[in-house]
Amino acid sequence: MMTTNVHEPIPMWLPHIGPEVIEAATQALEIGYLGLGKATKRFEDQLSGYLELDDQRVPMSTNSCTAALNCACMLAGAGPGDEVIAPSFTYVAAHQAVTATGADVVFCDIEEPTLTVDPDKLRELISERTKAIMVCHFAGLVGRLDEVYQVATEHGLRVIEDAAHAIGTRRHGKLVGATGDLVCFSFGPVKTMTTLEGGAIVTPNPEELQTLHQLRMLGVDKETQARYENRRAWEYDVLHQGFRYHLGAVPASIGMAQLALLDEFVRNRQEYCRGYNQRLAGIPEVITPDSDYNDVGPFIYYIRVPASERQDLIEFLKRRGVPTGIHFLGAHEFTYYKDARRGDLSVTDRVVGEELTLPLWSYMDESVLDRVADPIREFFA
Ligand SMILES: *Cc1c(COP(=O)(O)O)cnc(C)c1O
Repeated sequence: MMTTNVHEPIPMWLPHIGPEVIEAATQALEIGYLGLGKATKRFEDQLSGYLELDDQRVPMSTNSCTAALNCACMLAGAGPGDEVIAPSFTYVAAHQAVTATGADVVFCDIEEPTLTVDPDKLRELISERTKAIMVCHFAGLVGRLDEVYQVATEHGLRVIEDAAHAIGTRRHGKLVGATGDLVCFSFGPVKTMTTLEGGAIVTPNPEELQTLHQLRMLGVDKETQARYENRRAWEYDVLHQGFRYHLGAVPASIGMAQLALLDEFVRNRQEYCRGYNQRLAGIPEVITPDSDYNDVGPFIYYIRVPASERQDLIEFLKRRGVPTGIHFLGAHEFTYYKDARRGDLSVTDRVVGEELTLPLWSYMDESVLDRVADPIREFFA
């Protein structure tokens, strides 16, 4: 499988592009129908199977998670004058998906140890204008999602789960996506599974699927059914504003090859995260994620270190060929969002200085874990 030679510089992430993935892409290219079509439909059916969705829940693929999140916000009815509450501590794609609708994003704090939305702080932020609560399953962990749903139910709000980090995570025994309200996944270039670029949204209400199809394809009323059969509807109506958010045949085919391996990707990643937890245990300056990873499908592995030492550690590791990442910057600091309404963000403000993401991909050589963990131990010794 795709392992790295121990003498090479360590990548941060490495997509699995094995022979079966290349074969799937080649076959899709040879068929010659590249657009939204049969392959897209098959990918969606297989995604539904993977997620073990019941009859009421349907997935729709998109060309990114950002597009899926944007569709989720529109389904929630968010538009000018409305608000969507989201953690500042998430990728800016989520905030952009909100503000692209014309709605305002309202920043909520996260809590320790999971670094997911703090449901208690959420309550205070709800206003007359709130349409939805967006959460991020940071590093694959869902945190106190049950409480988030409780708050949403009390106020009649929709919940948008940004599960870009969490395909393969289980909550109460069910995969993320199989329960809950609107759940969005990313199949971007570095994510746990990739379609090169891509994403999906799962809705719990099959009646919303038609609206989603129209949002995905330029507001056109009946195009999707025809295209799912590799045809076009030459006569159609346009009902409202829509977008070009669909997943084409080649990425969908790559996605099917990836889906067939996804259980293995997730198992391996769980094992590497446990391996990191073990290797980094007992270093007083290092906080490792509070998880045994049994129910977690991790996209990233991260640690927290004292903010005053993070930059020195980053450079120390870089000199030893170990790349690191930072997830995330506090979005409330960005120029574009400096006036956005917010609550107390004290945990976010602290954590953004401490977080450090370590290399993780689906087929790592275990020796890489030592090459990453040993110098971290050495740095703090
Ligand atoms: C990657 C990511 C996204 C965006 O996904 P795309 O498929 O690149 O649009 C959104 N949220 C989080 C938390 C992510 O990590």
